[in-house]
Order: sequence, then structure tokens, then C-alpha cells
Amino acid sequence: RQNSTAELDKAAHLHPYTNARKLEAVGPRVMAEGDGIFVRDEQGNEYIEGLAGLWSVAVGFNQKRLVDAAAEQMAKLPYYHVFAQKTHGPAARLADKLVELTPEHLTKVFFTNSGSEANDTVIKLIWFLNNALGRPEKKKFIARTGGYHGITVASGSLTGLPWNHASFDLPAIPVRHVTTPHAYFFAEEGESEEAFAQRLADEIEATILEEGPETVAAFIGEPLIGAGGVLVPPAGYWQKVQAVCHKYDVLLIADEVITGFGRTGKMFASDTFGITPDIMVLSKQITSSYQPLAAIMMTDAIYQAIADHSERLGTLGHGFTGTGHPVATAVGLENIAIIEEQDLVGNAAAMGKVLQSELARFADHPLVGEIRGVGLIAAVQLVADKSSRTRFDPEGKVGAFFFERAHDHGLIIRNIKDAIAFCPPLIITEEQVCEMVARFGKTLEDTLAFAEA
Ligand code: PLP
Repeated sequence: RQNSTAELDKAAHLHPYTNARKLEAVGPRVMAEGDGIFVRDEQGNEYIEGLAGLWSVAVGFNQKRLVDAAAEQMAKLPYYHVFAQKTHGPAARLADKLVELTPEHLTKVFFTNSGSEANDTVIKLIWFLNNALGRPEKKKFIARTGGYHGITVASGSLTGLPWNHASFDLPAIPVRHVTTPHAYFFAEEGESEEAFAQRLADEIEATILEEGPETVAAFIGEPLIGAGGVLVPPAGYWQKVQAVCHKYDVLLIADEVITGFGRTGKMFASDTFGITPDIMVLSKQITSSYQPLAAIMMTDAIYQAIADHSERLGTLGHGFTGTGHPVATAVGLENIAIIEEQDLVGNAAAMGKVLQSELARFADHPLVGEIRGVGLIAAVQLVADKSSRTRFDPEGKVGAFFFERAHDHGLIIRNIKDAIAFCPPLIITEEQVCEMVARFGKTLEDTLAFAEA
């Protein structure tokens, strides 16, 4: 048998979000160690992790306190569930902490292992809720094209990205996708941000009326779209969307899986954008992804209706073996303690300014169409023609070239087609932001040569 990590992997492992034939041809990059904002591969090459893993490692890649929190919990009670009137210290304490941290009107939490499971659970809880409220026809969802909410059958249906639907027979639940709130590509010529936001809110209202308000349960959106390209909504968008939701008794779900815990320079992006959601979904930075964990925050009204109905039925028939896992919740508590003690939210705000202004220096570059972001999340949109905002080929080959070549300059980022996304660990320093952007600049020069060839 072959025994290098790369060979073993190539022979036996089907990877997510990977072109399997390409992986077979070139082999995987074997990652070995992490240190602050850096990761190293098996050959000892060091990279700035410009995407914090998968938008998630807030405290950096070697935070010993999280290792100790996990080890202590492992030694004490490595596993217990929270079914059937049981709980344990870490789940109870993290629930309490999350209720304290999130907006006041969110008073209860349900735990899952991943963002996808969390959104799947949200769908089921809302169906359960509307059955409880005696309106079983109110089951449809509204989401956005370009939005990302996960990949399970139901959460993947809410996701509005073509590659998550193609050949998977999705959507598989009743959902309507409305226009992506991204002015650069979707506003009409001469349309103000305000007018664009109004048009999008009108579209949502028209969609609700078309379906019948009595059949539309909820609207889901990321305050700022992450995996779909770091798309900052036009000014006033959320206020208008919220008003439409209220008008038709449609619940508002803020998917803060990427933005939660400081990413936009405030603890939650709902604060940044003035959203008052009925449900808030958290994951990723909740544990800095050292352990899989997600949390669904809900209002007291939602909780009370669910509690009453579960009493009538005898139980809430939903939950995972790993729901509220003691090691994951213990790590979550310690991770949040670090975020608070080190004021990583303040650092995200301050370093976000540095990041956005460093990137702004590339505004005149021939490949750069738009630079966008809030706090420590940003994207640079590469285009074939700046004046007409024409994209490169639909496959995003230029962005894919950038992604690969960045490794040669010691940088890992994410290309979403031809948008280059940044989402570094929240611990990043000013010098490191500048170094990350310098490496971006070198890669951009190589990409210009590639695009012109
Ligand atoms: N929601 C958002 C906004 C996300 O960005 C993601 C993952 O990137 C998810 C949900 C799904 O989370 P997971 O990959 O943990 O299932």
C-alpha cells in the first residue's frame, strides 16, 4: 500500500467542493500545522490564512486555551446528550452566554453540529411552529439568489447558488429565490442605492403576494452575503425587507454563520445593519471551528409556541446525537471568553479599516471592478472590462488562476468565480494585514499577465 498522506488521500478520499479528477491529477496539498494567522503544509511552506480556514478561525490556529478547554472536558465528561431532561455544565453555560450576548429579544437557543443542520432545524422548527399555531399552509420560504445557507436537502434548497443545486435535484422544499442585493451587478444604470433597495423590497412583497401571504413562513438572508461573493447590501435594504416581513407576518431569519462574533466589527452583523431578526443562526466563529457547533437563537414567542406544542405531542421530536456536545460547547465558551477578553470585535473594526483602505489602493488596477466589504470581510471583484462591468468567462478561470497562484506568494484566499475574498482571523495585526494585501498585490500582477495572455 502507498503510505504518503497525499497518496493515501488520493486513493481513498472523495473531497467536498473539489474537482475529483483534478485532485487525482495533481494530488492534494497536505496541511500540517497552524500558528496564529499562518498555516504550514507538509513541505513546510507557510501561508497567511486569508480566509481563516472556512471563514471561521477567529482566534488563530494555535490557541492553547481551546485545546485545554477541550482536554479538560474530555477528561471529565467527554460525551453526554441533552435529550430527555438531561443537560450538562458547558451546554447550559453556553446557552446562557449566547442569550446574554445576542439581542435582548432572543431568549432561547437550540444547538446543532453545523450551519447546515442549524438551517435545516430552523426550517423544521418553523414548520412545527406553524402547525402549532394552526396555520399548516404557512410553510414556504423566501431566500436570495447568491445566498448560502448550507448543503443538506432542506438548507441546500435555501442556498441560491447554482453549483449547490445542479444535479442534486434541489430545491426540494417550497422556496422562492429573489434578486441578489448587490448593486454592482444588479442595480440598473443610474439607479440609486436607495431605489435599488426599494426595488428589491418590492420584489419580495410581490413574491409574497403571488404565493399568498398565508403560505409564506419566513425570509432568510445573511446580513452580508459571504460564500456567494462577500456582497454588501445597498443602504436601507434591511429596513425595507424587515418592514415587508412584518407586514405579512413572515419571520425574518438572520443567517450569521459567517458574520457572527465580530466579523463585521460589531458582535453581530444584525447590529451592523440594524436587523431585528426573529431567528439568528450562529456557527463557525462560535468555536473558531476547533469543534463543530452551531446555535439557533429564537424569540420567546417562538419558543413558547414550540414548547406548548411539544407538550401536546409529548415531545419535540428533533435533535442530533451531538446536539449541545459537551466538548464543543466547552470550547465555544472558552473561545467567546477569548473574543471578549482580547476585544477581537474591536480589533476586527480597527483592522477592517486597515484592510479596506489597503485594498482601496488597487481601485485603478485594470482587473479590479469593485472592492467591497465591512470590517474584516472583503472581496475584490476581478472583471474583464471595468467600464462595462463585463465578467470573465462563466467558469471563473481567472479567479481560479488567482487562487492557485496565491499559494506561491504564501497566501490562501477564496475565489468565488472571479471575486477574491478575504476573511482573516480576527487576531490579525496591522502589519499582517499589510503583508496579506502585499501578497494579494503580487498575485494580482501575475493574474494580469495570465488574463492578458
Ligand atoms: N450559512 C452560512 C451563511 C454559511 O456561510 C455556511 C457555511 O459556509 C452555512 C450556513 C453552512 O454551514 P456548514 O458548512 O457548517 O454546514
